[in-house]
Amino acid sequence: MELSRRQFFKICAGGMAGTTVASLGFLSSFSAHAEARQYKLLKAKETRNNCTYCSVGCGMLMYSLGDTAKNVTESIYHVEGDPDHPVSRGSLCPKGAGVLDYIHSDNRLLYPEYRAPGSDKWQRISWDEAIERIARLMKADRDANFIEKNAQGLTVNRWTTTGMLCSSAASNETGILDGKFARALGMVAIDCQARLCHGPTVAALAPTFGRGAMTNNWVDIKNANVVLIMGGNAAEAHPVGFKWVIEAQTKNDATVVVVDPRFNRSAAVADLYAPIRAGSDTAFLLGAIRYLIEHDAIQHEYVRAYTNASLIIRDDYTFDDGLFSGYDAEKRQYDKSSWFYQLDEQGHALRDETLSHPRCVWNLLKAHVDRYTPEMVNRLCGTSIDDFNRICEILASTSVPNRTATILYALGWTHHSAGAQIIRAAGMLQLLLGNIGMAGGGVNALRGHSNIQGYTDLGLLSTNLPGYMPLPSEKQPDYQTYISQITPPALGLNEVNYWQNTPKFFISMMKSFWGDRATAENNWGYDWLPKWDRLYDVMTQAKLMLDGKINGYIVQGFNPLAAFPDKNKSARALAKLKYMVVIDPLVTESSTFWQHHGEMNDVDPKEIQTEVFRLPSSCFAEEDGSIANSGRWLQWHWAAAEPPGEAMHDGKILGRLFTRLRELYQQEGGANPEPVLNMSWNYKNPRDPHPEEIAREANGMALADLYDDKGQLIAKKGQQLSSFAQLRDDGTTSSFCWVYCGSWTEQGNQMANRDNSDPYGLGCTPGWAWSWPANRRILYNRASADVAGKPWDPQRALLHWDGKKWSGMDVADYNASAPGTNVGPFIMNPEGVARLFSIDKMNDGPFPEHYEPLESPIGTNPLHPNVISSPVARVFKEDVANMGNAADFPYVATTYSITELFRHWTKHARLNAIAQPDQFIEMGEALAQQKGIVAGDVVKVTSKRGYIKAKAVVTKRLQTLTIDGRQIDTIGIPCHWGFEGATRKGFLANTLTPSVGDANSQTPEYKSFLVNIEKA
Ligand code: SF4
Repeated sequence: MELSRRQFFKICAGGMAGTTVASLGFLSSFSAHAEARQYKLLKAKETRNNCTYCSVGCGMLMYSLGDTAKNVTESIYHVEGDPDHPVSRGSLCPKGAGVLDYIHSDNRLLYPEYRAPGSDKWQRISWDEAIERIARLMKADRDANFIEKNAQGLTVNRWTTTGMLCSSAASNETGILDGKFARALGMVAIDCQARLCHGPTVAALAPTFGRGAMTNNWVDIKNANVVLIMGGNAAEAHPVGFKWVIEAQTKNDATVVVVDPRFNRSAAVADLYAPIRAGSDTAFLLGAIRYLIEHDAIQHEYVRAYTNASLIIRDDYTFDDGLFSGYDAEKRQYDKSSWFYQLDEQGHALRDETLSHPRCVWNLLKAHVDRYTPEMVNRLCGTSIDDFNRICEILASTSVPNRTATILYALGWTHHSAGAQIIRAAGMLQLLLGNIGMAGGGVNALRGHSNIQGYTDLGLLSTNLPGYMPLPSEKQPDYQTYISQITPPALGLNEVNYWQNTPKFFISMMKSFWGDRATAENNWGYDWLPKWDRLYDVMTQAKLMLDGKINGYIVQGFNPLAAFPDKNKSARALAKLKYMVVIDPLVTESSTFWQHHGEMNDVDPKEIQTEVFRLPSSCFAEEDGSIANSGRWLQWHWAAAEPPGEAMHDGKILGRLFTRLRELYQQEGGANPEPVLNMSWNYKNPRDPHPEEIAREANGMALADLYDDKGQLIAKKGQQLSSFAQLRDDGTTSSFCWVYCGSWTEQGNQMANRDNSDPYGLGCTPGWAWSWPANRRILYNRASADVAGKPWDPQRALLHWDGKKWSGMDVADYNASAPGTNVGPFIMNPEGVARLFSIDKMNDGPFPEHYEPLESPIGTNPLHPNVISSPVARVFKEDVANMGNAADFPYVATTYSITELFRHWTKHARLNAIAQPDQFIEMGEALAQQKGIVAGDVVKVTSKRGYIKAKAVVTKRLQTLTIDGRQIDTIGIPCHWGFEGATRKGFLANTLTPSVGDANSQTPEYKSFLVNIEKA
C-alpha cells in the first residue's frame, strides 16, 4: 500500500507538523508496511531514560523486548514520555517523539571501519586491530612531539599535535573518562560542543553573578509575570520546556514578549513581538537599561545592597570613542588593570552607599548607557520606537518587589562575535529590576545539547579543569603560583568569597586524578598536568591543522565539518591530518569528509591522505549514566538495550584504548610516561569502567577519617562525601568535580531520585534528580529576601531567616550568616555582590557596548565610526581576507533551528526526516519580489566563503528593517541538513559562516553575517 506523506502522519505521528515543506507540496510517498509500528505490550521491560537531544532533558520511558538469556537480542520498540517527570510531564516534542527512529536508524554504525590514505572506500576491521593501530599512531605522534620543557626550561608536559573533541550527549561518566584520558596524555587541544554553543554564557554570567549557569530552572518559568524571549526561540528549540512559558501566560497572567529577527513560533503565541536586526541585541538591552534609569524603574534597595552599584572604580578607567582604557591596537587586546575598584589598605573595595561619588559604578553606568536613546536603538536595531518603549514599560513593571521577569535566551545571543556582552547586558538589566535569585526571575540560558551543561561542568575545554577551575598555563609553572593566582582574596570585610576554598577543590580533584601518587611533596602531581601556551579552541585547532601543526584528531560524538565555522576551510583542515578517529553512533559528515558528494562536498578522495578510523559507539538508550539538563539537574538514566552490532559504550572504547597505551608505555617507555601511568584508572575492569564507579568518583570520598571543627567524626575513611563543604586541602578527600559533590552519597545515587512532589507549589521538586550545587534549584536565592531576611515577595518566598537559620523551599545559596551581618548574597564573588561593572573579568570591556558584526550591513557604527566592530573579537589574519562587505553581499543571514529537527542528528531519524525532508531557506516577500523568486524556487545563497543551494520559503516572518537609514533584508537559514542522513541531501549551512569569534569564549559567529541570494 502506498501512502502519501500526509496520510502517513495520520497513522503514526499525528502531532508532528511538517509545516514548511508540506505547504510547498514537496511530498514523497512511503510504503505502509515499513512504517507499521508495534505498541506497548504487557511483558515489555520498562526503562527510564532522558531525551538525548536538547537540554530540557525530558523524561522517557523505553519499552524493550527480548530475553537475552535465551539468546534473543533485546530491542527497544516503543518510547513515550514519562508522565512523572516534573518538567516534561509525559510530553515529548517532535524530536523526542521520533527518537525510536534515531535508535534504529539505518545510519547507525555497526562495526569498526578504516579508510586508507587516498582511498575512496571504507574497509571493515576488528576492534583489536582498530585499537592497536590507533594506540600505535597516538604513541608515535606523542613520542615524537611531546613537549616536556618550554624554551625557558620550565616544565610544561604538553602534547599539542593530537587533538580531541568530546561529545555533548554522552553521559558525565564518559566525560570524566574523556578528561582523564586526555589530560594524562598531556593533550591541550581538547574542546567540546560548549565552545560552539553556550561558551559565552559561562563567560558572561560568571563575571556577573559568580556562576556561569542558568540561574533558575525549567518549571520555575511558570512563576514569572513577564517572560522576555530574546536570542532564542524556545517554542522550536526547547518545545517541552516552552510549556512553562504557556503555563506562566495562562495561569499567572504573564506577558510574553519576543524580540527576534524572525516572527518565529515563540512569537506566534507571544503577547508582543518586535523585530530586531540580527547582531544588535546589546544596543536594545542597553537602551532598556537607560529606559529603566530614566523612568526610575529600579528596585533601589536591591541594587544598593546586592550589586556593585556603590563600589568605586579606579580613576584611570575610561571609555572613549568605542574603546575602553588599556587598548593595545597591535595585540588587539586590553590591559585590564584600570577596570578595577579603588581599594582601601586592607584590599577591600571602596564604596559610596549614597551613590553620589562620580566614580561609583552607578554613575559610570548612567553615563555609559546614556547614548542608547530610543532613537539610537531604532537606528541600530530597526525596532520601532513604539515597540521598544512598550517592551521597556513591560519590563519596568517588574521593578517592584512582588513582580518578576524571566529572560530566556539561547544561541541567538551566544553565536555572535560579541555574544558574551549581550548576556552581560541581560544580567545587568535583571539586577536593576531585582529579578535575580527570585522565583520567576533570572537569566535563563537555555542550553543546547542534552549534556552540554555536564561537559561544561567537567571542564572539557582546552584551558579548563573540572568544576570551573582553569588548566594551568606555562606562566604558572609551579603549584604555589597557580593556586595563589586562582584563589581570590575577599574584596569586602565579611564576604563569604566561596572561591577562597579553591585549594580544597583543586587538591581533591588531583587526588581523583592521580590517587595515592598525588602527595603534598609532589604538589599533588601538579607537574603532570599539561600547561598551555596559547588557546586551543576549535578555531585554533582548525588553524593549526592547516598549518600542519596538528597531526591527529579524536572526534567523539561531534561533527566538526558541520559545526565549525567556514565548512570549506574545515574540510581543508581535516584533509591535512595524518590520522583521525571518529567515535560516534551514526554516520557523520566529518567521518566521510574525504568522500565526494557533488557540490555539497566537492573533494577528491585521492588527494586526501588522512587515515580515518570510524568506531561505532552506543547511543543514550544503550548506556547507564547521568546527564545534566539546562537547569543543572543531574538525571540518572539506564540502558534499555545493548548497542547494535559490534558497537561499544564510549567508556569501553576509551578504556580499551587507554589501557593499551599504558601497556605500550610500560613495555616500551617513550615520551614522559609518568602521567600516563600515574593517572588513576582503578576501575574493576580498566578496559570497561562501569558508570556507577565513575559517578561515585565524581562525587568523591573520604581518604581518611574526617572530623569537623568540634572534633565530631563526619565521614569515615572510604565513605562517600555528602557535600563539597567536606572537601579538604590536605589530601584527605577526593572529588573529580567539586560541584558534583553530593550527587552520590552514602545514602546512594541522588541523581536517580524520583520524588516529584512540589510541596510549595513553586516548581521546586527537591526530591527529583539532583541539582548542582548542593541540590539547589535557584541560584543566588539569598537575594530573594531583603537585607533583614524577609522575602521580597511572600507569595514566592524561597527562603527566610527563622531566627536561627535560613529555611524555606530551597537550599540556601549562602552561608549561615544572620541578616544584618553585612554578608553579600552573591557568595562566589569576592565582593559579595553582583556586578553591574564586571571589573577585569571579561576581555572586551567591563560594560557591554554595541559593536557591529564583523560583516556589517551598514559598514559603520553610528556610536563610534572609528571603532565599528569589536576591537578584540577573535579573528586570525588569514580569515580577515575571507570577510565580505555589504557592496557584494548586501543581506544579513542568520542560522537557526526548527522544531522538527535537532542540529545534525535527527536527520538520521526517519520520522524527522519525513517531517522536514528538504533543505530550505526563508526570505521576506519584498526581497523575493525584488529578486523574482517565488516559493519553491531553488536559490543559491553565497557568502565570501562559499555557497549553498536550497528551496526558498517566501514569508511574512522576515521583514525589511530600516537600519541607519538603509533598507536591510534578512535571509533565514535553518542549519539541519547535510550530505549524510535520511533526509534528502543538502548543504551544510556553516559553508557560509565566518571564522570569527567572541573575545571571551572564542565561540564563532553564526547569527549575523553577509550573503547574496539569487535564483539558481
Ligand atoms: S528535544 Fe528537548 S523538548 Fe524535545 S523531547 Fe527532547 S528534551 Fe524534550
